[in-house]
Amino acid sequence: MANETGRGQRTLLIAGNWKMHGTLNSLEHFSLRLAERVHEPQAELLVFPAAVHLAAAVRSFRGQKVGIGAQDLHEEALGAYTGNVSGEMIHDLGVRWVLIGHSERRSLHGEDDEVVTRKVLAALRAGLHPVLCVGENRDEREAGQAETRVAGQVGVVLQALGAAAFSELTIAYEPVWAIGTGLTATPDQAQAMHTAIRAQLAAADPALAEGMRILYGGSVKADNAEHLFGCPDIDGALIGGASLEADSFADIIAAADAVSQN
Ligand code: PEP
Repeated sequence: MANETGRGQRTLLIAGNWKMHGTLNSLEHFSLRLAERVHEPQAELLVFPAAVHLAAAVRSFRGQKVGIGAQDLHEEALGAYTGNVSGEMIHDLGVRWVLIGHSERRSLHGEDDEVVTRKVLAALRAGLHPVLCVGENRDEREAGQAETRVAGQVGVVLQALGAAAFSELTIAYEPVWAIGTGLTATPDQAQAMHTAIRAQLAAADPALAEGMRILYGGSVKADNAEHLFGCPDIDGALIGGASLEADSFADIIAAADAVSQN
């Protein structure tokens, strides 16, 4: 929807990453409460439950405009990979989105840019929309290397898979120092990084860059969301902590819709 924020045709996307939280019961309560709070949102909505809750989430959110995504996938389509889940298995459940390269996967599971690239390819082959997470750590920001680091993360995927692969992709810029810390990038810091990412993509394909949604993630809450969404290159948010309760998630959706209506 065209709007006065300068975002052009890009619709805001509000996504909740539930990480290793929740039960079947809390999932059901969340969907019921969200249905009470959110009617005809202008923003697109997604939740990323734990893998064991994906099938239940598809059922619980049926009839609500809430897409479901997985938090990870294996880079192979099938095989002897005990404990892992493939893109095809995820797709088979009716799930259409997947997070790839979240900073917790990168730091706790040793996923580097090459693994991330293979996972993006696996997701695309399975018919899933990948949300590619990128972001610098605190040392990199303090050393003035934030843009170089993020450009490197995006660049590896871009070079390996080509710009065309990005037509199915959403990027989430999540400075590692802001995830779960209560620290948030200022709207100016986030906007500057989103502009840099969009410029990098524009060098490969200007039309693709214009349509590409770039989310911000890192301690987004209702009280900082509106300022962030007011920035022309911030196309929504990937939210951890504040997405665990339907009410705080709904408050962020309300902030997004307030901006969209301007
Ligand atoms: C995240 O884990 O992607 C995230 C942004 O978490 P939080 O909102 O809690 O910082």
